[in-house]
Amino acid sequence: MLDLKKKNALITGIANERSIAWGITQQLHKAGANIGVTYLPDEKGRFEKKVREVVEPLNPSLIVPCDVQSEEQIDATFAAVAEKWDKLDILIHCLAFADKEGLTGDFSDISRDVFLKSLNISTYSLTRMAKAAKPLMSDGGSIVTLTYIGGVRVIPNYNLMGIAKAGLEMSVRYLASELGSHKIRVNGISAGPIRTLASSAVGGILDMIHHVEEVAPLKRTVTQIEVGNTAAFLCSDLSSGITGQIIYVDGGYEVMGM
Ligand code: NDP
Repeated sequence: MLDLKKKNALITGIANERSIAWGITQQLHKAGANIGVTYLPDEKGRFEKKVREVVEPLNPSLIVPCDVQSEEQIDATFAAVAEKWDKLDILIHCLAFADKEGLTGDFSDISRDVFLKSLNISTYSLTRMAKAAKPLMSDGGSIVTLTYIGGVRVIPNYNLMGIAKAGLEMSVRYLASELGSHKIRVNGISAGPIRTLASSAVGGILDMIHHVEEVAPLKRTVTQIEVGNTAAFLCSDLSSGITGQIIYVDGGYEVMGM
């Protein structure tokens, strides 16, 4: 029943094989979607090389540079999408950034620059990309972003990223409210802790995983593929009545009080 054939999907946030975005890409591809991916450009082209190596087996239609801090690169990304495909159906927003200063020490010590940079990349980018995607989602569409329970409750060291995720989750609701009349749905997946490049920057990721293994009803954390399966569901007609929601894919951890 889950069928994404003839759907065009743009996926952001693949850094390597461990990336949650890669788990999502594989499952969308398996369901039949055409795949386009973005990568964060760097001077030596190392990120591009890595992303090309990872996605090559899926033969993506598009591989485009996009630093979400750049208005020009966001516009160029969606111009490339418009040129390649007649429409866009799926946008996966799977990226975040915080300087080390935002992920350790006293929360009140975070500087203005570090704070603004993190919210620019991790939070505002969803709204800016939704704006660019809207005219291309002429048949309606599905936008999915990735969040974490640290945006709702205090998790040691998650600090600044907690603020970014709180803003991101509220952005999901406001975007869903605006874009619903265009048949565009907007949802977030709140994933349990997974070892990735980004999560290794958060102090104590292994402690977080061990805690979930002890407390969560399923007694384990989740995999990138499990997150990918939920993303595929949220991008398919099976979830046609769902928008503005944050779905927890965390082994049930969120429901526990103790
Ligand atoms: P990854 O490090 O694999 O992915 C993070 C991605 O964000 C990377 O591809 C990174 O690019 C990209 N990125 C950073 N800055 C920019 C920018 N300026 N422009 C464009 N892309 C940028 O980690 P994850 O897979 O863990 O993270 C994906 C999402 O999942 C994030 O939103 C994260 O907060 C969320 N999440 C992660 C959890 C976890 O435990 N891992 C749990 C819940 C949510 P590059 O690496 O090339 O710098």
